[in-house]
Order: sequence, then C-alpha cells, then structure tokens
Amino acid sequence: MNYNKKTVYDVDVKGKKVLLRCDFNVPQNKETGEITSDKRIVAAIPTIKYLLDNGAAVIACSHLGKPKGEWKTKLTLAPVAERLAQLLGQEVIFAKDIIGEDAQAKAAALQPGQILLLENLRFDIREEKNGADFAKALADMAEIFVSDAFGTVHRAHASTAGVAAYLPAYSGLLVDKELSIMGKALDDPKRPFVAVLGGAKVSDKINVINNLLEKADTIIIGGGMAYTFKKAQGFEIGTSLLESDRIDYANDMIAKAAAKGVKFLLPVDNYCAAEFSADAEPVLVEGNIPENLMGMDIGPKTVELFTEAVKGAGTIVWNGPMGVFEFDKFAGGTKAMAKALAESGAVTIVGGGDSAAAVEKLGFADKITHISTGGGASLEFLEGKELPGVACLQDK
Ligand code: AMP
Repeated sequence: MNYNKKTVYDVDVKGKKVLLRCDFNVPQNKETGEITSDKRIVAAIPTIKYLLDNGAAVIACSHLGKPKGEWKTKLTLAPVAERLAQLLGQEVIFAKDIIGEDAQAKAAALQPGQILLLENLRFDIREEKNGADFAKALADMAEIFVSDAFGTVHRAHASTAGVAAYLPAYSGLLVDKELSIMGKALDDPKRPFVAVLGGAKVSDKINVINNLLEKADTIIIGGGMAYTFKKAQGFEIGTSLLESDRIDYANDMIAKAAAKGVKFLLPVDNYCAAEFSADAEPVLVEGNIPENLMGMDIGPKTVELFTEAVKGAGTIVWNGPMGVFEFDKFAGGTKAMAKALAESGAVTIVGGGDSAAAVEKLGFADKITHISTGGGASLEFLEGKELPGVACLQDK
C-alpha cells in the first residue's frame, strides 16, 4: 500500500470548486440533538481554512450517524453547519439536500472563499452502496476532490472513493497526517518497534497481529484477548474471555513470533473479579486463575513487564485497552500503559476507538505523538489492508 499521496499543497486550488469529504460525525444529545463534542469539526478547520484562504470554493460533505438511506430529521447536518460557521467566523451555506436541486443551485452559485455544506450523505442509500450515479452527481458539482475524513477511508463509499473516478483526488491535512505518521511507523519505523494490543477479542485483531509480526520487534498482548493466548499456553483462565476456536491460532502466533525473534509478551498477573461489574472487588491473581474468577485487568507485575518493554522503544503503536477500563477499579492497567507510552520518548501512535478514548479519559492525550481519528480505519491500516479511500488518491 502506497501512503505517499498528493495533498492539498500539491494542487492549485485558486478559483476551483473543491468537494471536501469531512468527518462531521459528531456525538449528539439523543433528546435535543445538541452537539456534545465539536472536536471533529474543530479538527476539520485547518484544511477548510487552507482551501478558503487560497481561493477555493468549498463544497463540504459528511455523514452523521446511521440513517441507512432514510431521511431522518434528527440526523440533519444543520447544527454542524451552524457550529462550523461559528468556528470559521463566516457564513456556511447549507443545502437542504445532497445532490438535489438545492445543492446543485447553491454549488453552482458558490464563489471563491465561500463554503457550502451538503445534507447528510447517508440520507441517500447510494452513498454507502457507492452508487456510480450518486458519486458522479457529487463530483459534477466540483473540479477537485479532497479527502479529509480518515474515519471512513476504509469504506468504499461514493463520497470516500467513488467520486475519485470523476475528479482528481488529494488528501486533506488530517488524512495526510494520519498517512504520514502511521504509514511511516509501518513502513520504516524507528526501532525498536513495539506494538501493544488489547481489547476484547482475538478474532478482531488476528490480521493486525499477523501483519505486525512481520514488522514489530516486540508484541505486547493485554486485555480480554490475552486469556485465549494464556489458555493456549496451558494456563487456567477461570471465567475470563475465551475464544476457544482461536486457541490453535494463538499457539501458531506464539510459535511464529519465536521463530522470527519477535518478543511476544503476555500478562503474568491479573486483577480478577467474581462477576463482570463495576462494583466487583478486584482480586490479584498470579498464574492460574481460579474457576470462579475472570481476568478484568493486568496486574502490577505485568505493568512492570510491559513498561520495561516499551522503555527505549523508537516507535510504539497501541490499539485496544489492557482491561475493562470503563470500570474505574479495572482501569489501572490501561492507565499505566498510557503513562508508559507518554513517558517513553518514542514516537507513539494510538489507534482510534477505545484506546484513544482511554488515553483521552485518563489525561495523557497531549503526551502522545498521534491519536488516530479513525477506529476501524486505523485497525485496517495496522492490518496492512488496502484502504479504498486512500488507494483512490493521487500518488506523489
Ligand atoms: P476492542 O473494541 O476490541 O478494542 O475492545 C475494547 C473493549 O474490551 C473495552 O470495552 C474493554 O472493556 C474490553 N476489555 C478489555 N479487557 C477486557 C477483559 N479482561 N475482559 C473483558 N473485556 C475486556
């Protein structure tokens, strides 16, 4: 996969109409529709400003929520247009439809330095189905396509990949940052390269482990997925998460790591609980876990082992929490790992989703080199998969 893509800096946007795919999929209050975090809108500002300041007319578009092709008033992008206008300090023209009469007329009349926001792309089922007519209608409103929604680049949708069949396609500044930092980490990492993987399921991370075994010097496994590996090693794991159909795979991975000289670290102690509950009393267990207990977090010896392993690393990639961090009593391992990354001096990259949320919740976000804005996308990136929304961009 080539991550070296042309950006908005590589094209003259003056006087051009630019279709800009943003990630305005903001969290909202379910009752009032109020935007509860405008982080994603704020993150889109640099690319938008660059385009407007350089004389482009910007036709911004995004999805919001999962309307699945239905027109759902609650999922209108109107509140986003309002917030975007406040942040930009200029009018954001809002289209009542996506590729309909209103959007077309407003796009046609749009002047350099002006911005138009189309209505929620997923109100039309052809967006997610990558309908060629829908993609073409979007493209027909503009002369250039800029992709700045990293969270959706793993999807081959009309607005993320389809439009690139009709328009020259460039990355925006957000997508460029993701590609250059994560791409470099995978292609040419500063070594030692340590991967820290956690989360609930082995099956979700199989392709990531496979890919990273080819690239990393050390792989650290924590979280619920670690217990299938412990079981594979012959340990008792009580009622901990187990994917019994993945035990053979776990054994293969341990053997493969040994053959390749990749250090493969698993927890040596765990905080366990009698039940999956925020109020459960943590019980520290080393070695075999009794049959009535489940592993909920890594223990202090494991924290020490993992912390030692990231010390002196050149690059660290982290995806997935070390325990059930949503419960305060079992957040210690994830917190310790976030701290270890923050203090490591390495290039640190945290994949989106839960690990990003954990780093933010625990207050270490500003000490991490890069927190990916895409959960699924960053996971597929780590899997080494071709991402349709990246592959469609022009190579440098
Ligand atoms: P993932 O989406 O695969 O990264 O998994 C994240 C989820 O894994 C979080 O909701 C965690 O609570 C959960 N998790 C982490 N460790 C454990 C564990 N030991 N047992 C059960 N769930 C866990």
